[in-house]
Amino acid sequence: MVTNIDLFNSRYFTSDELPELWNSAVSLNRMVSYNSIIQTMSSKNQFLKNWRQQKTAVKRFFESDEISSSSISKIFDEPKIDGDQRNANESTNLPLDSDCSSEEATHWDSSSDDGDILELDISNGVSSAADKNAPPCKTFEEFFMGTGDLFSSEQQLALRSKVADWASKFRPTRDQANGILHILNTVFPLVPRDVRTLLGTDKSVIVSKKCGGDYSYFGILKVLAANDLLDPQHPVLNVHINVDGLPLYHSKGADFWPILMSVNGSAPVMIALYYGSSKPSNIDEFMSDFIQEYHSLSDGFDHLHVRYTMQLDAVIGDAPARAFMKQTVSHNAYHSCERCIGKGTYCERRVCFDEFSSALRSDEKFAEAGYDDTHQIGLSPFVALIGCITRFPLDYMHLVCLGVMRRLVRFWKAEKTSRCRMSPSEQRVLSDRLTRLHGKLPSEFARQPRSLMESDRWKATEWRQFLLYTGVTVLHGVLSSTHYCHFLCLSIAMSILLNDDDAFRSTHLPYARNLLKSFVRESKDLYGPTFITYNVHSLLHIADDCVTYGVSLNKISAFPYENFLGRLKRLVRNANNPIAQVAKRLSECHVLVGTKSLKTRYTMTLRDGVFTMKNGDICFISGETHVSDELVVKRISKTRLGSLFTIPCDSRVLGIGRIRNSLLAEVPQVMIHKGDIFKKMVCMANDEGNEFALVPVLHQD
Ligand SMILES: [Zn+2]
Repeated sequence: MVTNIDLFNSRYFTSDELPELWNSAVSLNRMVSYNSIIQTMSSKNQFLKNWRQQKTAVKRFFESDEISSSSISKIFDEPKIDGDQRNANESTNLPLDSDCSSEEATHWDSSSDDGDILELDISNGVSSAADKNAPPCKTFEEFFMGTGDLFSSEQQLALRSKVADWASKFRPTRDQANGILHILNTVFPLVPRDVRTLLGTDKSVIVSKKCGGDYSYFGILKVLAANDLLDPQHPVLNVHINVDGLPLYHSKGADFWPILMSVNGSAPVMIALYYGSSKPSNIDEFMSDFIQEYHSLSDGFDHLHVRYTMQLDAVIGDAPARAFMKQTVSHNAYHSCERCIGKGTYCERRVCFDEFSSALRSDEKFAEAGYDDTHQIGLSPFVALIGCITRFPLDYMHLVCLGVMRRLVRFWKAEKTSRCRMSPSEQRVLSDRLTRLHGKLPSEFARQPRSLMESDRWKATEWRQFLLYTGVTVLHGVLSSTHYCHFLCLSIAMSILLNDDDAFRSTHLPYARNLLKSFVRESKDLYGPTFITYNVHSLLHIADDCVTYGVSLNKISAFPYENFLGRLKRLVRNANNPIAQVAKRLSECHVLVGTKSLKTRYTMTLRDGVFTMKNGDICFISGETHVSDELVVKRISKTRLGSLFTIPCDSRVLGIGRIRNSLLAEVPQVMIHKGDIFKKMVCMANDEGNEFALVPVLHQD
């Protein structure tokens, strides 16, 4: 079959090729205009100098069942030029390999023997009645490749978009993608033949040497515009940036250090990328392009006739990245606390903190290098942009999830004998409980619980899950009541600071602060003086970030950036110029497709079917309805919700409680409107299976 684009683009068809063209046309199974074929072939093939003389023969050709090289030769190879010379000249004057105008087509139609456009059903090769109203295809390409009346440009563009999604999702090699694109292009000319064109790949990535590695700067304005992040409805751009190291390989010292940006809470985009065997050697040099452009934009800039202003609001990173950006001592130094001047002490090969009310640091003094005696090791380039104490949030993902929560579990699992260590049987109970919850947590959770034995491989989301949801139930009865209550202080405080209800969070913020203070204080007695390292001490200050920003810690966490970095790493195929590989993939508009949908799932299961309502009642989805905005539920009054714990506070203050299994059988089914639902609940059965613990979902990714 002749489906090769190169053939279609050639100026002439040989007599051997024409039967194949015909068969290809048949395979398309489309109604086509007879005249347009003749018209195109005459413009494509100089031997059809006088189509009038050959029209009958051509018609016979298309109507015949037997198509062979010899029959075509009879028609085309030796055209008779003994007809009307004027007509011949007319035809010769037709532009070769170009569109025939509709005027010419009309002229041809009117001068044909029967005066009609004859339409052929090429699916069976038999001529059918003509449709005079059907617009004739102008060129062979239009007829054969679909720009005529086969597929509209909208249909082709829709296909193009779907193919782009496919290429982004499955990431075929360039040869594989181009192979399928060449085939598609023969029928859908608006689908390009090169995958780089399809995905809008930036083919010119400039990589330079900087800070001891490779570096590429993509530009704030360019990246924001390319990602549709400049919304005329919101011309004030509140910017968060994230700078963090990302090890590329396990064995080889090769790190990415991207500068990521989020605007007004958007998904992160990448502004610059460094690749080297270690972190960038110089923060001033590393940030210079960003800071220069930020300065030029922060006073206001015009884009598509709209005036925008930009304000850097937060710089997010883990403790080592913050120390690098702020040019302060490392997080395991004596004066590492970023918020107070408290000094750590050296205890069992680590710096621990034993002070709880040291004087706080200030942005002003930091900008004047007022802590250069112990805390600052250089002047950060950020002092010219932002308050370096208050505007570098103590990211809870690293500090609490990967920091304090992991530290607690390590102490519980510690091999050396200590008061806080769990016995092997207690650890087994805990693991069994966690394993039983696997698959039971709402589908919005990226990961399901797994055994405590695997805690060395838990990800940040799993530590968060343990801290906020599962730990509250599975630890009960396994830890001593003192240690359990101590854990609850941390869990409850973080639940308050992560609550997106501004009024609730503000009301309970002083309580959360006190809980954290007592958690830190008591941890010395419960876990020993070595427990209070930088991360644990910083809990004393983390509530301040909610006050500074007026938002929950969700809005200033590293979780969205961490997700982005995970995807970034997967874009690298080999060690050959990783920056260019990543930059090209990110320039492809579809590359971020595939991020998990945040749409709430409603199903008739305990996993995705338990919700708290705006008035505090609990509902369990119990039936199906065809009304999309309504749900059939068993509604249980909030007054029937029992406490899961009462110390240090009644769990119901936080919306956490327990419900007897049998209660569900007692209440009738009712219809409720989805708009009355407040939050999804994590529903966890107890060991006996006669009660459910209910914890509202707080986190956002
Ligand atoms: Zn401090």
